[in-house]
Amino acid sequence: MREHTVDEPDDKGWQDYANCLGVDPDLFFPERGASTREAKEVCRGCVVRMDCLEYALTNGEKFGIWGGMSERERRRIRRQRALARNAGLEVKPVTA
Ligand code: SF4
Repeated sequence: MREHTVDEPDDKGWQDYANCLGVDPDLFFPERGASTREAKEVCRGCVVRMDCLEYALTNGEKFGIWGGMSERERRRIRRQRALARNAGLEVKPVTA
């Protein structure tokens, strides 16, 4: 469902394994205040959830559900990472 570039023509990207392939994209971009439960439910069983979340964090995706997290939840992670960087701590990618 998400835009993705691959290095090799036969190299499958993480998006090819997304649980949300074929799912209505509107589900992942709910109106303000609308429930995110259904989208997060799709993400819960997704084998590339961490790749998706890391992609959204790295690219500063401001809208929608990525990796099972809302904008607010991702903002919190970015803030924690910024604090850790400022404190000179190692910032590790999110893990399952
Ligand atoms: S984590 Fe969610 S939004 Fe990301 S690829 Fe998987 S199902 Fe799609």
